Amino acid sequence: MCPDIIICNTMKRQLILLSCFCMAGAVMAQQYQPQGYSDSRTKGMAPEMTELYAPQPPKVTPGDIQRNTAPSDAIVLFDGKNLDAWRSDRGDAGWKVNPDGTMTVNKRAGDIITRESFGDFQLHIEWMVPKDIHGSGQGRGNSGVYLQDKYEVQVLDSYENETYVNGQAASIYKQSAPLVNPCRKPGEWNVYDIIYTAPTFKADGTYRTRPVVTVLFNGVLVQNATTIIGTTEYIGLPQFGAHGDGPIRLQSHGDRSEPISYRNIWIRKL
Ligand code: MG
Repeated sequence: MCPDIIICNTMKRQLILLSCFCMAGAVMAQQYQPQGYSDSRTKGMAPEMTELYAPQPPKVTPGDIQRNTAPSDAIVLFDGKNLDAWRSDRGDAGWKVNPDGTMTVNKRAGDIITRESFGDFQLHIEWMVPKDIHGSGQGRGNSGVYLQDKYEVQVLDSYENETYVNGQAASIYKQSAPLVNPCRKPGEWNVYDIIYTAPTFKADGTYRTRPVVTVLFNGVLVQNATTIIGTTEYIGLPQFGAHGDGPIRLQSHGDRSEPISYRNIWIRKL
C-alpha cells in the first residue's frame, strides 16, 4: 500500500476522533483512567463514541526476531527473577513470577507500576496471550502499557480478533490505530519496542509540546512518531494537565479471558 495512503488514513482517524468533541451519551467507566483532569465536553459521552472500526490495518506476518536481551545501559525492570522494580496501587506488586522467567497477570491484584519514574525513554517489553484464550474483542487478552502512567499502548490478542481499530494491539488506545497488524497467534511471544518523548507544558497546564511515541511491534513499525492527543480515557475525550516524569503501568484488565504473561522488560532513559 502506498505510504501516503497509510498516513492519510491515520490522519483521517485522528480527525474523526477530534470530531467527537461535539458528541454526547452516558455509560460508567470500568477501567483505570488517569485522575485529576476533567472536561465538560466529555460529560454524557458513551464508550462507543470514541471507537473506530474502519479502515482495518492490513495484516502483516512478522519476521523471525531473536529473543532480545537488555543492552548494558538499560534499567532492567523484569528479568524473570522477581518483581522488585514494581509495586501496585495498594502496595507490593501481586502478579505471579513463573519458574520459566515470565510473569503472569493476577487480575485480583490489579495493575502493577514501576517504582521508578521516567521522562523520555526507550522501552522493550514482551507479552504472550495464552494458547487456549477465550473471549472476543476487548475481552480477549486485554492488558496495556501506560507511558508515564497516563497514555496507554494497548495490549490485546489481535490475531484474528476484530475490535475497534483504535483499540487493537499497539494502538494508542482510542486515539491512533496501528499502521499494520503484525500480531502473533496466541501461545507465541509478541515484542513491543516503544520510543517515547514526554510532553512539555505551558504555565496554564496546556501542552506546549504533546507526547510523541514510536512503536515497533514484532520489529514492524506500527506507530511512526505518533502525536498523543492527551490522556487515555475509556469514555470521552483525551484530557490534559501538566505532569512530570511518571512510571510505567501494566494493566490488569477486568475482562474474563485467561490472563496474559510478560517477560524481558527493560528501559533506557533518553
Ligand atoms: Mg488495555
